[in-house]
Amino acid sequence: MRYPRTIEELIFSFSQLPGVGRKTAERFVFHLLKRPKEDLQRFANNLNNLQANTFTCPQCFNFSETSGLCDVCRNEKRNARQICVVEKIHDLNVIEGTNEYHGLYHVLGGKIDPIEGQTPDTLTIRQLEDRVKKDKPDELILAINPDIQGEGTILYLKKLLQPLNIKITLLARGLPMGGDIEYADDATLCNALKGRIQL
Ligand SMILES: [Zn+2]
Repeated sequence: MRYPRTIEELIFSFSQLPGVGRKTAERFVFHLLKRPKEDLQRFANNLNNLQANTFTCPQCFNFSETSGLCDVCRNEKRNARQICVVEKIHDLNVIEGTNEYHGLYHVLGGKIDPIEGQTPDTLTIRQLEDRVKKDKPDELILAINPDIQGEGTILYLKKLLQPLNIKITLLARGLPMGGDIEYADDATLCNALKGRIQL
């Protein structure tokens, strides 16, 4: 221990963040110590609230501010006949940012990747299957990044869900091969959404 325990503890917490080493973590802590008291209180409250007020939507697995459905699922103006399947919540937000899509979502939580321990059971694929069986949507849009694991996941979902007689579409390949939805600009993503192709 080089600093008092309280400081060392916070340095440790920051150093657990991606891309943050001990030195950067120290810089963060010393920066915080120089901030006005109110700023520190706000920072602390935000962290507390993050844990206390962030829930997972039981239907689509987006973030929710309550233990019930998220804002998207609760919004009656959305088209509940369309479900867009994404890997992660960040992708959902990127698609929302285009204002091109007005249906609902389903967040898988990743792609099938057995080497990384990601299987249909660690993702929300069973829940998606149940949801499709129950709600019988008109269209399922697979907005999954087309890399090797993504292609495998798309094939798996196709085999699993096509027998349920719903239209399954893919984003048009305006997206660069291996390109990530996360980094696509709005115009490219809009075109990919508009020009989606049936599986
Ligand atoms: Zn939801």
